[in-house]
Amino acid sequence: MIIIASTNGAIGIPQAWEILEQGGTALDAVEAATRIVEDNPDDHTVGYGGYPNLVGDVELDASIMDGTTLQAGAVGALRGYRYAITVARRVMEELPHVMLAGEGAARFAAEMGMQSEHLLTEQAAQVWRAGIDGQQPTISASQTALLDELRRHTANLTSDPERVSGTVNFIAQDRTGHIASAVSTSGWAWKYPGRVGDSPVIGAGNYADDRYGAAACTGWGELAIRAGTTRCVVLYLKLGYTLEEACHAAFADLIAPHEDPGTAIMSMVALDRHGNHCAVSTSSGRTYVYQAAGMTNLEELPRLVITPGQK
Ligand code: ASP
Repeated sequence: MIIIASTNGAIGIPQAWEILEQGGTALDAVEAATRIVEDNPDDHTVGYGGYPNLVGDVELDASIMDGTTLQAGAVGALRGYRYAITVARRVMEELPHVMLAGEGAARFAAEMGMQSEHLLTEQAAQVWRAGIDGQQPTISASQTALLDELRRHTANLTSDPERVSGTVNFIAQDRTGHIASAVSTSGWAWKYPGRVGDSPVIGAGNYADDRYGAAACTGWGELAIRAGTTRCVVLYLKLGYTLEEACHAAFADLIAPHEDPGTAIMSMVALDRHGNHCAVSTSSGRTYVYQAAGMTNLEELPRLVITPGQK
């Protein structure tokens, strides 16, 4: 029995742990934990209070995957419903589809009886306005290139991507050995309206398979989408790699040989079917959290730093 998460998921772990301890499923545990983060107005990267897109609308992405059935549900660019993870789970359970986006996702949430609300808090709106006005602190040199694309659409935008991006990842393995994973995010602040990141793309930002393991990403979603990063990790596990080797191999494919590794921002948590866990990042100083059988509290551990593109 184990649950691992990106560090901003720490507030969701106690409830998830209770579910697991009482014999609940990994799927219920990761959904419950994600909802707690989606509720947190101080986490501007997920759910209620998330930073908005270029035109000031909060658009959420989320996905959930059941490693037993390989069923998955996802929503992209969802507006007006904070529990994106629950909408994603209902997509998985109620529809013959994996992903709904935009208006269709909101329509479905309403049909499921969920309450629509305004997700932009005053605090998040202030940061959004400051970014539009070019009044945010300057970003670090190595990350500047990654924001160039966005800058083309956002005159004078300068901001710290550590503050304007982020996502929550959870992976749990329950008593019966079943694995589930959940990812939820408001995506990159000032993203182009309708932009969908890796978080709801199964195989990119989220993948789980009981037979091998699971992985979930935060970071520059476009890289994980084009490389199919989490699916790669699980495939490498299937091929007999250790968990760390699988993470290394997946990060090797994040960028093309001509691209500057310094511009790639990516982090990932991963678990194999034996309960081994690891978390990696292209940035130093990052951590993740986990709780496993026999522990009364979660523990925070450093992530392994990987330079993308290196074999
Ligand atoms: N991966 C998310 C996205 O690209 C954002 C993040 O994790 O920072 O939307």
